[in-house]
Amino acid sequence: MECQEFRKSIPEFVDMSLRYDRMAQCLSHVKGCPSCRDELEIYFIVERGIKDNEAFDGPFVLKNIVDECFAKAQHKINIGRRHRRMAEMLRIFIYIVLLVAVIALVTYLL
Ligand SMILES: [Zn+2]
Repeated sequence: MECQEFRKSIPEFVDMSLRYDRMAQCLSHVKGCPSCRDELEIYFIVERGIKDNEAFDGPFVLKNIVDECFAKAQHKINIGRRHRRMAEMLRIFIYIVLLVAVIALVTYLL
């Protein structure tokens, strides 16, 4: 993922509205890109300043906010991956049931 792409996705990344696979790309990018992490921190400063007018207590609080955001993103990614695995298992199960049904039908007809 390019920096520009990540930066455009910051609002959706922060409010967790990206798909889990897109979230994974963003998280992986921002964890390895100090300049995008700075962009994310600036977004939080601006966002918090505008949204709840909460006093800003410096880099320690900001680090916690970013860490919390990363943890939430990771959680969403994990759930998305689990759901995808379950959907794949369900699909395989349905194929097997259909295959067995076809074999049973062919056996019955012959
Ligand atoms: Zn970047």
